[in-house]
Amino acid sequence: MVEHVICYRAPTTVANVDAIADWLRARIDADVAVRDRFLEVHRTDDLAERFAEARVTSPYDRGTGNTMLGTIRYEERALEHPEREGGVLYDGVQIQRAFNAALPAAERGLETLHVPMLDRAIGTWGDHDGRWHKRVTVLGQPGLVSVPGLYEAPAKPEAYYKEKQRHALLSGETPPREVLENQVEGDFLVEDDPRTTDALCGYVLAAYHYLETGEAFCDREGCRLFDAHYHEDLIDAQLREPAFCSEHARLYAE
Ligand SMILES: [Zn+2]
Repeated sequence: MVEHVICYRAPTTVANVDAIADWLRARIDADVAVRDRFLEVHRTDDLAERFAEARVTSPYDRGTGNTMLGTIRYEERALEHPEREGGVLYDGVQIQRAFNAALPAAERGLETLHVPMLDRAIGTWGDHDGRWHKRVTVLGQPGLVSVPGLYEAPAKPEAYYKEKQRHALLSGETPPREVLENQVEGDFLVEDDPRTTDALCGYVLAAYHYLETGEAFCDREGCRLFDAHYHEDLIDAQLREPAFCSEHARLYAE
């Protein structure tokens, strides 16, 4: 039984973790607390090296890591100045292990769930197709939630990629985001989207649901616990009514 949930802020993102905690508190039996950035609260000496080891070096190479001194220095700077890092994908499972080891022993048990909101992109290796996949969340202890993952992990409408390719053929450049948004039908979340906080609530609940029941996500599209692979499905699951399928509404509807 999960008795405490501790959510950690991601101050370099637009995610309002206090609002997410309020949403969660109204739906579950456990008490919900909010702390500052996980990497500040639970900083250990080896975290920079752990991040360097978890770097994905190629989308098709399962092996990770680059622990050359320059990379570790970069990761140290990224820990100190998170607003400056970006563009790197990390193995979410390795990061999860490193974070678990950084938790104080008294808080590592499964009655206390930690949910760090991250400003980093995380992924998991797909055995079935031999490549890395970006993720919004990696369930477990702690349950990782990646804010950039919300924008980058689900596939955007096909027209988005076509428009991007068309523009690149014509001008040799990537079109600005606004152009893509205006010319592509269908809905998707972009960086710093005003819907970010609302869209993340279901993923934080999924982290709780997994520890509490052992069930990872819900198969029913439209449920807040559905693991959407397309932006349209994500918006449908997280931002449109009804919030839950009938089974999960019994557990989590307000
Ligand atoms: Zn459901």
